[in-house]
Amino acid sequence: MKVPASNILNIYFSNSQQKIFFIVLAILLFPPWIKAQDNNKAVYKIKKVVIDPGHGGKDPGTLGQHSREKNIVLSIALKLGKYIEDNVKDVQIIYTRKKDVFVELHERGNIANTNHADLFISIHCNSSLNKNIYGAETYVMGLNVGERNMEVARKENAVITLENDYSQHYEGFDPNSPESYIVFNLMQNTYLEQSLEFATLVQKQFKDRAGRHDHGVRQAGFLVLWKTSMPSVLIETGYLSNPKEEKFLMSDNGQALIASAIYRAFKNYKTMIESQSNFTVARADTNQSFFSVQVLTSRKKIPLDDKTFKKYKPVFEFKEGSRYKYTVGRSSSYEEIKNLRKQLLTDFPDAFLVAVKDYRIISLQEALKKMK
Ligand SMILES: [Zn+2]
Repeated sequence: MKVPASNILNIYFSNSQQKIFFIVLAILLFPPWIKAQDNNKAVYKIKKVVIDPGHGGKDPGTLGQHSREKNIVLSIALKLGKYIEDNVKDVQIIYTRKKDVFVELHERGNIANTNHADLFISIHCNSSLNKNIYGAETYVMGLNVGERNMEVARKENAVITLENDYSQHYEGFDPNSPESYIVFNLMQNTYLEQSLEFATLVQKQFKDRAGRHDHGVRQAGFLVLWKTSMPSVLIETGYLSNPKEEKFLMSDNGQALIASAIYRAFKNYKTMIESQSNFTVARADTNQSFFSVQVLTSRKKIPLDDKTFKKYKPVFEFKEGSRYKYTVGRSSSYEEIKNLRKQLLTDFPDAFLVAVKDYRIISLQEALKKMK
């Protein structure tokens, strides 16, 4: 004999028991953590790339025997942009200049920031008093390591003396004073790891596919990278002071080789970032923005309930490149998260504030700007 389900409920459960039954059923059918699992699949996409050909207009950049840096880097930049536009349809290219015009260094970073770019690529040519030196190197923002890096940064930064009000735009920075470079030591470089990943891929392509002499990935204090709030690199494509390399960089074929090497590095970087950047959430609604405190970076995955994190909750995990980043706490109040950081400092002396938006960590600077 069949009894309708509602009758069974009436027989065996009181009214309040019935309510509980349905709540339990609802939880079984629509578990509240299912949204968190969906969030795990949310993938960060690279949508906008800013390409920055160095110098321009009244600033020729470094001078070769027969060439000017500003012209060579513009050709390479336009080729690179075209390769990406033609082959990676979901990426938009923004140039800081497409013509022979002067653009101030701080304005180049502004263009990238206001467009919310995902990657900033500054393209340059090098020079040396020693004409025998040739080869390519890619820089990420950081303290000048070694005299040669300092010299390259000094040369590329010197252009600000051609700008109006430069002391105002760069907080009193003097490109020729080594002491000025200390300022870069004070900033927390949120995007250092991704910048390094991309820089490494560029150098690999230069070496393996474009046959360039590899000077490796380096760090120095470049003003143009100072305030960009996304992974950023400055590429020195070769030495105009070396006659053979100058000839190569002036040739259409040479420029195409350099541009396609950067293009391939970009494609690899995009694939890597998009396949690896997932986001593990401790709560369901993490697609909203919030402040948190970054406590650890690790090459190995750490369970969110690991004793490393002590008693602190909630813990968030972000995979960026080959690294895992862990943050503690969640608040929309800046004051509250600042207090939390103070408490965390005893267990995590390097803890610093970050903001989370669209499933990824963004710099505080960027977040505060968006809130204004
Ligand atoms: Zn330059």
